[in-house]
Amino acid sequence: MKEFEYIGHLHIHSTFSDGTSTVHEIARDAMKAGLDFLCITDHNTMGGMEKGMEGWQDGVLVLFGTELNMAKNHYLAFGLRKTVPQDEENPQNVIDDVNAGGGFGYLAHPVEKGNPLFKKGRFFAWDDWDVTGFTGIEIWNFGSLWRYAYNSRLEAFFWLLFNSYRAARFPDPDGLKVWDSLSRQRPVVAFAGSDAHAFHLRLGPFKFCVFPYEFLFRTLNTHILLHEKLSADLAEAREQVFSSLKSGHFFIGSDYLGKTKGFRFSALNDDGEEAVMGGEISYSPATVLHIAAPSSGRRLIRVIKNGQVVHESGQQVLAFKVLKPGTFRVEVYRRPLLGRPVPWIYSNPIYIR
Ligand SMILES: [Zn+2]
Ligand SMILES: [Zn+2]
Repeated sequence: MKEFEYIGHLHIHSTFSDGTSTVHEIARDAMKAGLDFLCITDHNTMGGMEKGMEGWQDGVLVLFGTELNMAKNHYLAFGLRKTVPQDEENPQNVIDDVNAGGGFGYLAHPVEKGNPLFKKGRFFAWDDWDVTGFTGIEIWNFGSLWRYAYNSRLEAFFWLLFNSYRAARFPDPDGLKVWDSLSRQRPVVAFAGSDAHAFHLRLGPFKFCVFPYEFLFRTLNTHILLHEKLSADLAEAREQVFSSLKSGHFFIGSDYLGKTKGFRFSALNDDGEEAVMGGEISYSPATVLHIAAPSSGRRLIRVIKNGQVVHESGQQVLAFKVLKPGTFRVEVYRRPLLGRPVPWIYSNPIYIR
């Protein structure tokens, strides 16, 4: 099946909330980083869209979502034409309002932890796990991971100078566990975001930008796959991007470690039915998963079934025979000559019933 791949970034704050750059500046940074689209998600506002900023800027498609709630239970909503009221104490109301408004959404950084070094230890996790009706969860959030990676400011500054990606190189295993357990019950889309704010830190007389937008746009990206080219018409292009995000027809690629473009994961059964990421097919005795990793570098492919690793391979292309139904997803790691493999790609699942 011919597919067109587009690279975007989803969880971004601009000066319409607590980010430090304007939408125009952010779009320019995305163009420099080689992105095709952006979803700006300011806190409790879609101000950029209300000001008519939706559309192509510097060749990058700029779309707007919003991040609802402040003290806890942050919910990233997309596909809305206007924002809905927040309700931290009863986030089910927020999920329902987003769905009623024609949108869909993800639980943002649901397993975030605090660190006394930053924000006085405050954190913004999800605390109501009885909610239903959400589309997915954020399994990899650059900003959260950075805030709880280090034990002292000195250590944080040291790694900021010498390897600023280090803090975010492994997604929180608690988030992956939650995702695996939810996606055994029903389809749950996973995505990653940087939570880009490009905030500034002071160190004595010096003030510097901790994670510039352009840097973050080269890290945890969303690679959507479309059956047709992205339309030049705004309403059609918006629909194409949002329907991919809603159906999980995409993968998460850490482009910082090497370009992830070209990764593919699909399943084919005896009846000739094919499922792509986010899709579902019925099981037959000759169902096979087809996986293609990007060609560059040393890699490790892991096939995960119902949250458990069932196969590992260093090959670039892999055909894996499915023995029983289940929820299948793929992780690809970069394998350095020394040290542990580092996460590079997370696919969305294929559900074999
Ligand atoms: Zn948040
Ligand atoms: Zn955020």
